[in-house]
Amino acid sequence: MAQDLDRDPLRMVLRHVHIIGAGMAGLSAAVSLAQSGIRATLYEAGPAAGGRCRSYFDKALGVRLDNGNHLLLSGNDAVMQYLTTIGARHTLRGPGRAVFPFIDVGSGERWTVAPGPGRIPWWILTGRVPGTKLSDYLALARLKKAAQGASVQSVLAGTELYRKLLEPLAISALNTMPEEALASLLWAVVEGSLLRGGRACEPLIPREGLSESLVDPAIAYLARHGSVLHTATRVSAIRQSEGRITGFTTPAGEIAVGVDEAVILATPPWVAGDLLPSLPRPEQFEAIVNLHYRVGDANIAPDLGPAGFAGVVGGTAEWVFAKPGILSVTISAANRYADISNETLAERSWADICTLIGSTAPMPQYRAVREKRATFTANAASEARRPHPDVGIAHFAVAGDWTHTLLPSTIEGAIRSGRAAAHSLLSPA
Ligand SMILES: Cc1cc2nc3c(=O)[nH]c(=O)nc-3n(C[C@H](O)[C@H](O)[C@H](O)COP(=O)(O)OP(=O)(O)OC[C@H]3O[C@@H](n4cnc5c(N)ncnc54)[C@H](O)[C@@H]3O)c2cc1C
Repeated sequence: MAQDLDRDPLRMVLRHVHIIGAGMAGLSAAVSLAQSGIRATLYEAGPAAGGRCRSYFDKALGVRLDNGNHLLLSGNDAVMQYLTTIGARHTLRGPGRAVFPFIDVGSGERWTVAPGPGRIPWWILTGRVPGTKLSDYLALARLKKAAQGASVQSVLAGTELYRKLLEPLAISALNTMPEEALASLLWAVVEGSLLRGGRACEPLIPREGLSESLVDPAIAYLARHGSVLHTATRVSAIRQSEGRITGFTTPAGEIAVGVDEAVILATPPWVAGDLLPSLPRPEQFEAIVNLHYRVGDANIAPDLGPAGFAGVVGGTAEWVFAKPGILSVTISAANRYADISNETLAERSWADICTLIGSTAPMPQYRAVREKRATFTANAASEARRPHPDVGIAHFAVAGDWTHTLLPSTIEGAIRSGRAAAHSLLSPA
């Protein structure tokens, strides 16, 4: 911050922080502050906390669903630390090792990517993806050296490994088609997972639901540390004076920000832009479609193996997840399907599922959830517009998966951003 820190009262006496938005970034900021003994008040527009990472009861299917299937990796260090802090690490389940089963629905070919636990990737000698060469794997190093702004496709395309592993990985991890997706962001994902060996690549999903793992235990932890969450409380305006935030507007009235207080803005980027128009932020977004089929009624109980999910190559679905009574499909980078109805996507994805599980059952009842702005588009234009937590306003920081995390839009990025925002208030640069 451009000010004399010795005379900054906040550095000495920060007593309370207002956090606008209680998604993963806002919750993570509040948890980090609580660890430093500072209370927070969270203002959340929605009826519950969690933002894009939450569970809800779906009346049509009569089951509790996650708003989208979320996959975590054991190498998501910030997520694991957050879960340990809030006492919820045990609420994730995984197969106990890195194992990613795939099917090519065009050819029917099946394979499993299963990196061994150590850093040395013996599996590329002994358990390669069928049809791939050793040189295909070595080409991954090109990601690290990719020119600024280079796309994943321009750096990696053309090999069987690309078609069978790297392209699906890029589409799901970056939620952006590889012709546009930034090679540097895929490198960050590969460096944090595959290159650290199988111990960092165990796939983890919530035992019950996203809220039960990542949200509810955080709210309980925060309550124990004197922090408060107000749901159904949309902040509609922020007031600034003399380079600091002096207050903001909620449905319950005006909130004044004292000199010993600070504000963290942890809303999605388009809301942040409405509240503070001068804030740099990504302006392009990508959809994700999730389809949840109620297979319990159709007496289908597919076994997708120890991972509980499978990757699909050459189909409409990218991932299929098996949950009690439900098969769920994720279709990433779904702007390409903007003109295709949910019904058509459901029929196509069901055909992929039938190939995967070897069934000819008619399509059961399903729920389609199309999140139009699921993530920012992970391209060069977005990357250039991702702000650091400290945007030059005193006693203020921004957080969110869209800020400068060096990662694509992920839970890991959101949690890191919340920590970084808290840290920037506690230890201003
Ligand atoms: C369908 C789907 C699938 C995904 N899959 C994965 C995955 O497999 N793995 C992974 O790591 N990530 C995945 N992600 C991404 C992950 O969910 C996000 O990166 C993360 O949840 C973003 O958290 P956030 O706190 O930055 O933003 P948000 O979750 O958007 O939180 C912002 C919060 O601010 C609130 N808010 C908005 N306006 C206001 C206002 N005016 N006043 C007060 N509050 C306001 C919102 O209601 C929201 O709760 C997926 C996302 C989607 C949508």
